[in-house]
Amino acid sequence: MPIRYRNVIAVLKNPFYAGVYVYGKSEKRTSIVDGRARRSYGHGKPVGTWEVFIRDHHEGYISWEEYERNQKQLALNNYGSAGGVKSGRGGRALLSGIMTCRRCGRRLTVTYTGNPQSRPVYRCDKPNLMMGLPRCMTFGGPRVDAAVARELLRAVEPLAIEAAFEAERMHRERQEEQRQILDLELQQARYEAHLAERRYAACDPDNRLIAAQLEKSWETALRRIRDL
Ligand SMILES: [Zn+2]
Repeated sequence: MPIRYRNVIAVLKNPFYAGVYVYGKSEKRTSIVDGRARRSYGHGKPVGTWEVFIRDHHEGYISWEEYERNQKQLALNNYGSAGGVKSGRGGRALLSGIMTCRRCGRRLTVTYTGNPQSRPVYRCDKPNLMMGLPRCMTFGGPRVDAAVARELLRAVEPLAIEAAFEAERMHRERQEEQRQILDLELQQARYEAHLAERRYAACDPDNRLIAAQLEKSWETALRRIRDL
């Protein structure tokens, strides 16, 4: 008879094999569902909150320290699997952590093959690991990743084009605004040049100092018009 995954896990998780006598590892909970009290059993309580805990109660197969190490490793292994954290963490595969198997509903796992290990392979092999059933599927990542990336880009393309148009429109609006400001400044400069010209024309030519000053400010006004 093949070893079942859950039998192995049950042994690994049972403190009995670490020489410990435990009582009250899990609790029953009562919740209200559709106005009725519903009891559910077997909710695991964290280590340290068990009702009875007697270390070195009998000779174990492994030490308590080893048991605790195993629990940590199991928790790490479970990270990212069904019911665990869903985010694709770190890996290079595009679809890591977001694909599920159509056949059994489990989350596909990603492994990296090749040398260096960089070629993602998606697979659903939990039924195989757990119950010795045939694997659901295994397939190479690169082509699927590329196809999904293509579709993704195609889906966002219209938005990207729209955003580009919008940016262009805003750019033109800003340009138009700046042109209007320059226009106003130009009008102002022309008016000032006109005043300077009239003052220069009206001044007493015998008063050379004043005449030279007025001529200078007229020239400055004309330069400002040219610059604008
Ligand atoms: Zn499957």
